[in-house]
Amino acid sequence: MPVPPTAAELARRVQARETTAPELLTAALSRIQAARPLNAVVSLNDGAQAQAQAVQARVDRGEALPLAGVPILVKDNINVSGTATTCGSRILATYVSPYTATAAARLQQAGAVIVGKANMDEFAMGSSTESSAHGPALNPWDEARVSGGSSGGSAVAVAAGLTPVALGSDTGGSVRQPASFCGVYGLKPTYGRVSRSGLVAYASSLDQIGPFAHTAQDLALLMNVLAGHDPLDATSLHAPPAFATVTADDLRGLRVGVIQESLGGNTPGVDATLQATLDALRGAGAQVAEVSLPELKYAIAAYYLIAMPEASSNLARFDGMVYGARVSGSDVTEAMTLTRERGFGPEVQRRILIGTYALSSGYYDAYYSKAMKVRRLIADRFAQAFGQFDVLVTPTSPFPAFRRGEKTSDPLAMYAADVDTVAINLAGLPALSVPAGFETVDGVRLPVGIQFIAPALQDERLVRLAGGLEALGVVQAGVAPGY
Ligand code: GLN
Repeated sequence: MPVPPTAAELARRVQARETTAPELLTAALSRIQAARPLNAVVSLNDGAQAQAQAVQARVDRGEALPLAGVPILVKDNINVSGTATTCGSRILATYVSPYTATAAARLQQAGAVIVGKANMDEFAMGSSTESSAHGPALNPWDEARVSGGSSGGSAVAVAAGLTPVALGSDTGGSVRQPASFCGVYGLKPTYGRVSRSGLVAYASSLDQIGPFAHTAQDLALLMNVLAGHDPLDATSLHAPPAFATVTADDLRGLRVGVIQESLGGNTPGVDATLQATLDALRGAGAQVAEVSLPELKYAIAAYYLIAMPEASSNLARFDGMVYGARVSGSDVTEAMTLTRERGFGPEVQRRILIGTYALSSGYYDAYYSKAMKVRRLIADRFAQAFGQFDVLVTPTSPFPAFRRGEKTSDPLAMYAADVDTVAINLAGLPALSVPAGFETVDGVRLPVGIQFIAPALQDERLVRLAGGLEALGVVQAGVAPGY
């Protein structure tokens, strides 16, 4: 499973006149066409050809562009002017974005060409990409298994080598978990590091856009373009990115805390991958110790009691009046009701109902307000742990990719899949899923990801650490067999 040419390498080739941006676009489009059965891509950008030509003209004029001609897919909840943004939902089936999200615009400014939009769980609610109105994205390592979610299409696109890098969004694990299921890197930046302007909101206090890639170098390249203050996002931080493009870190003396609460209930292959990663870190001179964060047992409950209320309020705007499809009725109330009833899938409807309930008077204090208190306790506990450790580590998921259909009839089992990831969003911290091993299940090798968590604004540390792990041979990067 070789690593295909990286974004860094493709940009170098364009700058060196070994290839052109339009040629890279044509090649990406034919890979996307050949991989259509994976259902990773839900729409193509009609403007991509013109963008590729414009990038080439800039290169020909001598402009140095960090992502010159790099083809990229973005999750279908990130607006790109003139392209459909469906968020994996029937309710937005006819919606075309009138503007471009800041993150996507930054990529384009740096010379990337946005080829199209990647499949996702409806409104980013899910852990398998099975709730998409476009149908599920298939895991290229085993098509009978889920891609993970909600940014499944983006993870599949990188794992199948359709584009070297892609963007997803992570509210409770939606970049990291599909990255771990598909055997690629997935980074969830510190809350506020990457602008959310133009990202269709699921739970605004938790959402962050993040990259998928095969190498630490590509993560650094992308984050240097994506991160930075944006006046269009009130929560955007003034924290200029300083990701080293030569990323290998000396791991000697690094204090690594293994979160005890993540050690029970993992499959044997996940446990073995974690232990092998820790052994390699110890071998490189890191100090590895266990640490307990007892409040993590409330993380799933607190997360869903915060994410669903925020979603119920964010999704109120989809009533058929302004955005997307409208089902007509005898009066405005009936039109709105029918539009939402037919436009939203069952999981989204369930979350709007639970979220509205948790916010309603009489229940607010018992549910939403209590969850917010737990959120504070979790954030404080992380801050305390970072007094002793430089990074914390857990598996990204307790198990590798599960079978399609296995959890669709049991929402609580689907929610529990996020047990290792949601607390990081509650605390606003950066975390990276590193492709670190495999577990063979029914004769098929499935990727396993290990999650590293850093203090707020120390995203750079995670990427350097990944470079160090690559140098140690821990990282198992590359496309799925057959791609
Ligand atoms: N699976 C989690 C959820 O359904 C996380 C989703 C996400 O990060 N967007 O809420």
